[in-house]
Amino acid sequence: MSELPYLAIVGGGIAGPALALSLKKHHGISSIVYELQPKYDVRGVNITLAPNAVRVLQHVGVYDVVRTQGYSYDDLHLSNARSQALGNLLQGSPKYYNYSCLRVHRAIVQKALLDELKVQGIPVIFGKKLVRLHEEKESVELEFADGTSARASFVIGADGVHSRVRDAIMETQTSYSGFMGIIGMGVKRESLHKSASQVPLPNFVFGSKGFVAIMPSSYEGTVVDFFSTMPFPARSREEWNELAEDKTKVQEILQKRFGDKWPQFICDITRDYDKEGLSLLPFFEVPPLERWTSVKRRVILIGDSAHAFTPQGGQGAAMGLEDAETLSHTLSHPDFKSDYMRLLTIWERHRSERLRLVKDFTDLNGRLRSPDTAFIQWVKEWLIWGRFRWTGSLGNMQWLHGYNAEDIVRFF
Ligand SMILES: Cc1cc2nc3c(=O)[nH]c(=O)nc-3n(C[C@H](O)[C@H](O)[C@H](O)COP(=O)(O)OP(=O)(O)OC[C@H]3O[C@@H](n4cnc5c(N)ncnc54)[C@H](O)[C@@H]3O)c2cc1C
Repeated sequence: MSELPYLAIVGGGIAGPALALSLKKHHGISSIVYELQPKYDVRGVNITLAPNAVRVLQHVGVYDVVRTQGYSYDDLHLSNARSQALGNLLQGSPKYYNYSCLRVHRAIVQKALLDELKVQGIPVIFGKKLVRLHEEKESVELEFADGTSARASFVIGADGVHSRVRDAIMETQTSYSGFMGIIGMGVKRESLHKSASQVPLPNFVFGSKGFVAIMPSSYEGTVVDFFSTMPFPARSREEWNELAEDKTKVQEILQKRFGDKWPQFICDITRDYDKEGLSLLPFFEVPPLERWTSVKRRVILIGDSAHAFTPQGGQGAAMGLEDAETLSHTLSHPDFKSDYMRLLTIWERHRSERLRLVKDFTDLNGRLRSPDTAFIQWVKEWLIWGRFRWTGSLGNMQWLHGYNAEDIVRFF
């Protein structure tokens, strides 16, 4: 056993590299990361990293690099399609959470993590597609598509929503959530219609035809992106690809919803934005899993492979980062080798309870963002307004944004 790598991590996206870094930096434990892509993935979109996510990035030593390539903010403004303010959520706060919220491209976060792995001397083997796992009593064998294999004491599946690691240890089916998103990035803020100056940014705008977010994403805030999430009928994987490629159709979907009776700068964006730059993404979900570990507990799932849901709570990457740091403190417990069954059960219970709350929060956001009749929309807007009058700008969100993964050790 001693010559085996202690840990093999499958997936070099967000959660996998964060786990490898946390293990090395906090506990001096080495691991090896296997990644399907030949190099780091530049695809993806801008994401929002709330303080609970940023805190993990700080703990693993990449926050400073990432922060300077994204837009930090504290106040998220909410308004209606008539540009009336509904509320103001303190989504970040150096005072209450130690961190601001950060809007940044996912690829920047991934690259920062992978670069830091290199600095720390943690091997990342690119171009390695895991195809099979064989779990034995004392180790796990990994088989890759190129015909090679490897062995480790424990394997961590951080291989995203369509996880092979998950398939190897349980039967599950990812399913379409009923929602998709359309995003356009790289809009010069100065090019927005002057009506944009009537609402502070970043702003979530709610109306009876749905929801549009306008978010600065560059360090100075001079570049913004816009996105909308919306209910949309299911279709096959091929049909989704066809729709995503048909940029005229994607722009039509946007214009039908937001081309009229919205603040002028939103109507203009849906018409003037270069349609070739629009991304359409269906959101797939992993159903709630009874376990995030294999029966013998030598295979462990984290991030989207364990619990992918829609990004309507802005918490997908955050949950992967939290999983990573909490698991690193679990794996490095002094009794782990002799008592891993108990420790992993505690970790799994702690994380799945939190994920249940975050999923409820996400689903609520999905309902608030969905189109409705004028009357229901009116009620929803009053509810949003009333909530912030009641809770103030903290919005009772300390449970979400104040979470510190280091606290897991109190449960052992
Ligand atoms: C449109 C959109 C907007 C989003 N917005 C937000 C947001 O605002 N805030 C937020 O926190 N989150 C957001 N998310 C969610 C976030 O991007 C994901 O939750 C996060 O990337 C998951 O990280 P992960 O490491 O678990 O998986 P991934 O980032 O998917 O990484 C998985 C890695 O595993 C590799 N892999 C896959 N299969 C194999 C295999 N067989 N062998 C080896 N390697 C493999 C992949 O190549 C990939 O590199 C958004 C997602 C989408 C789609």
